[in-house]
Amino acid sequence: MSTGESPCGPVGELARRLVRIDTTNPPGNERPAVGLLAGILGGAGFEIETRSYLDSAERTQLVARLRGTGSRPGVLFSGHVDVVPPGNVPWSVPPFAGELRNGRLYGRGSCDMKGGVAALVVAATRLAAGRKLEGDLVVAVTADEERNCLGAEALVEEPLFEGLGSAIVAEPTSLGLYVAEKGAFWLEITALGKTAHGSMPHLGANAVAAVAELLVQWERQYPSDAAPHPLLGSPTLTAGVIQGGVKVNVVPDRCAVQLDMRTVPGVEHSWLRAEMDTLLAEISGARPGIRWGVATLSDRPAVECPADSPLARALSGAIRQVKGEEPQPRGVPYCTEACIWVPRLGIPAVICGPGEPGMCHQPDEFVDLKELELAAEIYTRAVEGLLAAA
Ligand SMILES: [Zn+2]
Repeated sequence: MSTGESPCGPVGELARRLVRIDTTNPPGNERPAVGLLAGILGGAGFEIETRSYLDSAERTQLVARLRGTGSRPGVLFSGHVDVVPPGNVPWSVPPFAGELRNGRLYGRGSCDMKGGVAALVVAATRLAAGRKLEGDLVVAVTADEERNCLGAEALVEEPLFEGLGSAIVAEPTSLGLYVAEKGAFWLEITALGKTAHGSMPHLGANAVAAVAELLVQWERQYPSDAAPHPLLGSPTLTAGVIQGGVKVNVVPDRCAVQLDMRTVPGVEHSWLRAEMDTLLAEISGARPGIRWGVATLSDRPAVECPADSPLARALSGAIRQVKGEEPQPRGVPYCTEACIWVPRLGIPAVICGPGEPGMCHQPDEFVDLKELELAAEIYTRAVEGLLAAA
């Protein structure tokens, strides 16, 4: 018999409504989810700006601003509402039904990161209902994060982010505090040579062999053994894709390799690029007829927020109050939208959100309902710590 009571709290309810909107990317279809959140934040007193994304009627991004007194720099709440496809492994629950079981909300995006977005928005409405803050609170809800943060990259071009001093990204961390993330520097390097019959290779210039030499040399000189970063460890290098050649008896005149380099603060991408250019010139010098093309596929710097900064201390304090334990600041090896906000807005960012990071993109994705409510409490207290009048 129903008691009429909601089976979950306000954050769980909102997260569930968001999970029930299928925003699988591709194609995205974020508009109804963004519309729902814009309505809630607008009703709470936020100024609402939406921007269509990639000229698609189905894709929208949102920036909502609650005006403070302006005596302190504002806080950015950051989350995305696109989700990855359910995948080929069968689920034991329907991925877009928002089923509740055993104190958990199940569904694609429950953990990554509609749960986090719901917690941010509920916290934002509570903050709006309280005393006027000393700085603005800005909520950015993006599309197309799952494609290398392209939504945030487009949104940050808009003049909607003035007056901000820090950012909180609600990607899942099991409510732990992450203060650093690795950079991602992806290059596609193409060797162009000269084709010839396989029996007369001296008449050609072998692009596959040139790339093979490049890979061996680059692995040797890549700074994977540099002094490890205390939170992020060492830079990594992965050759993810290689394509070249047409036939066993034809000297290949083209070979392309895609490199995924994950970096730490102190390893500048411009330095890596200069090292790469030097190496390519050396290989060309030893291999007449080889030319190179280099395309940057992604250039996201590593970011780090000092553990003793006001932002990190505000989050630490809020987590301690709400969870009763002192968070140990950590780092993540993958990119979040912090990699856009930090360099483009010149502000520090931390990552803290409900849900287990290992749940992301998995079948039977879920988030703990209690954690959702605690997250909203943490965000509310963190912003009060940063922006409430003394
Ligand atoms: Zn995410």
